Amino acid sequence: MSDEPELRRDPVSGRWVVIAPERARRPIAFSDHAPRHRTSGDSRPCPFCAGAEAETPNEVYAIRDPGSLPNGPGWQLRVVPNMYPAMRPNATAASPVHTPGLMSGTVRAAIEEIGKGQYLLRGAPDEFPLFNSAPAAGFAEVLIDCPDHIDDPTKLTDDQFADVLLSYRERLLTLSADPRLAHVAVFKNVGAEAGASLAHTHSQIIATPIVPILMHAELTCAEAYTARCGRCVFCDLIEKDLAESLRVVARSENFVAVMAFAPRFAYEMWVLPIAHEARYESLSETAATELAILLKRVLRALDVVQNAPAYNWFLHTTPLHAGVPAHYHWHLEILPRTARPAGLEWGYGCHITTVVPEHAASQLRAAIM
Ligand SMILES: [Zn+2]
Ligand SMILES: [Zn+2]
Repeated sequence: MSDEPELRRDPVSGRWVVIAPERARRPIAFSDHAPRHRTSGDSRPCPFCAGAEAETPNEVYAIRDPGSLPNGPGWQLRVVPNMYPAMRPNATAASPVHTPGLMSGTVRAAIEEIGKGQYLLRGAPDEFPLFNSAPAAGFAEVLIDCPDHIDDPTKLTDDQFADVLLSYRERLLTLSADPRLAHVAVFKNVGAEAGASLAHTHSQIIATPIVPILMHAELTCAEAYTARCGRCVFCDLIEKDLAESLRVVARSENFVAVMAFAPRFAYEMWVLPIAHEARYESLSETAATELAILLKRVLRALDVVQNAPAYNWFLHTTPLHAGVPAHYHWHLEILPRTARPAGLEWGYGCHITTVVPEHAASQLRAAIM
């Protein structure tokens, strides 16, 4: 493959990126430039460790030893409300979104569309205020992966890792019963450089009455692909990637890990069920164990190849109350901080990376154990 810069379009979101391997050779005078490795920044005492249950709000979900009491020791995994929530459950009371009579039927219908994956209100401009706002009504939760002070999810046992994945499902199922909510973001920040404020491995769950814009873009683009081709864009991508093997990092019986065709950061990796599944809520216990083992393998390979980068992973699944669409296919995106976004990224949403994804895939395959 040549070093010529190449434009690539992500088939799911429609975003364009630049792959420019030559830029890897540019002189860099700032010593703290890319990549962004995990920094410890660890502090004790840790409010997420066993024995510190009083340091967190009361748990809303837990996997516990028989006979143990809520909010005491004897747990394997806990979900607690975030002490510093971005969303508040009781913020709905004064919400204009839910006050009939304050809006026309058109506006109300448009708002109801939010639950069907519509982020932007549609209609005649004079139907809407210039400045739309609503109370941040929703839920912000922290899922503490394990009682021991572990700072790296690959150090979880397979069972612990599978429990994390199954607990994502449980929280999605619980939160999806709330008709006020449109979307649940489930993600993990690993390392301070990826936004983690505490080292003890944990995930975040944020349920909102709106569908975030990146999800909206994926849903819209994926729906358009299906309308045009009659197939799911993710299913097509998986089929082609498996046939060519160029971007496949690893696979198990039912899941595959591939490098993104048009990555935002070098080594951006997606993990998908091979068969079409619109909703993560359908994940079975055996599938969770299989997925846990695959994720640990590819994350360890990423740590080897990129010397423990900070990263996020996030779950993308069909929004709440949006049925089981043929055009959307849940997946996990793993986004390592292998560079620092600059003007083109922040100002225009166009990412430049310096590693050709097919090269990245072969490096990771060689590091898989
Ligand atoms: Zn801890
Ligand atoms: Zn599909």
